[in-house]
Amino acid sequence: MIRKPVNSRLAEFGTTIFAEMSALAVRTGSINLGQGFPDTDGPEEIREAAVRALRDGRGNQYPPASGVPELRQAVAGHQREHYALTYDPDTEVLATAGATEAIAASLLALVHPGDEVVALEPYYDSYAACIAMAGGKRVPVTLRPRDGAFRLDLDELRDAITPRTRMLLINTPHNPTGTVLTREELAVVAALAVEHDLLVVSDEVYEHLVYDEAEHVPLASFPGMRERTVTIGSAGKTFSFTGWKVGWVTAPAPLVDAVRSAKQFLTYVASGPFQYAVAEALRLPAGYFDAFRADLRAKRDVLAAGLTEAGFTVYRPAGTYFITTDIRPLGESDGFAFCQALPERAGVVAIPNAVFYDNRAEGAPFVRFAFCKRTAVLQDAATRLKRLAA
Ligand code: PMP
Ligand code: GLN
Repeated sequence: MIRKPVNSRLAEFGTTIFAEMSALAVRTGSINLGQGFPDTDGPEEIREAAVRALRDGRGNQYPPASGVPELRQAVAGHQREHYALTYDPDTEVLATAGATEAIAASLLALVHPGDEVVALEPYYDSYAACIAMAGGKRVPVTLRPRDGAFRLDLDELRDAITPRTRMLLINTPHNPTGTVLTREELAVVAALAVEHDLLVVSDEVYEHLVYDEAEHVPLASFPGMRERTVTIGSAGKTFSFTGWKVGWVTAPAPLVDAVRSAKQFLTYVASGPFQYAVAEALRLPAGYFDAFRADLRAKRDVLAAGLTEAGFTVYRPAGTYFITTDIRPLGESDGFAFCQALPERAGVVAIPNAVFYDNRAEGAPFVRFAFCKRTAVLQDAATRLKRLAA
């Protein structure tokens, strides 16, 4: 038996919480509100587009390393249509194996050993692992509850930047808190990046999932930001095809070249036929995005009401498909133990936010529920969760 086969950079990470909790849901027959994936697939016409690509022999062999031209053009078109950002599809767009590979390749390519990477905490778990694989040092800036939402303290962000800081790793709309950084907050983030001449990786996979008055503003659209920002998107989130693993990067050519230099040795390329289908999806009319948003907003409200009734403190998200709750009103304080027991107590699976914190104690009372599920499933979950109040 080989002892300690995992190297020291990865040793602290173990199995991702998403795999662990989805397995728990299957094992216990619980409703899975843990891992964030929709329980209905994206648009039928886009599935048909994938079938057509497969049948027509488009993408069944290695596509170009940057992605098929149709997808790169569609990504550039999407950034232009939605945000008035212009990118050259030939040199400034890169298709990736989901946002996950875009994150990994960006960090591996752009972070030097010993560099500090400032990331919002709670952070999506792959950020910590990829910073570590790159030999960088993560410097968390913690979002804390204020006025009913998890908010970024801009002074803390300013204080976190040192001469060793290489990069800001930003995620808005933010997983797991559902916070959408405001235009004013992003302007300060941008000004700090410019002042300290930092690279920025901006994970915007939930860009279309913003509700009520919230708006998504890409960091690349602020003055001085386009030249230093790697923006990441994903068809998993935007079109409900998480299994296709089609993501993309938009950035100036030197940054895309750098990210591609890492990406070529990770997958080289992925998801050939799906790239063609996603190219069609990115050109869907505004009606698609509006309907998708309205549907998820209604689902958010169903689950938020259920969680409130069950006794949780609910942080109503302005974006994403996650609700972060505080379990203390239920007389609980340890999210790990709570989530382990939840299948038995209520037949529901959720995610303990503590895994997204360096300071686990800070995240202990918070638990995340996903609402990208059919309304009947959310209603069933709400009914089950009421047992906790009893
Ligand atoms: N970034 C964030 C913030 C996410 O929540 C996720 C996964 N849902 C990803 C990246 C990974 O996206 P993908 O499935 O496209 O790899
Ligand atoms: N991003 C999804 C979530 O936060 C999970 C993705 C994954 O399993 N890697 O739930």
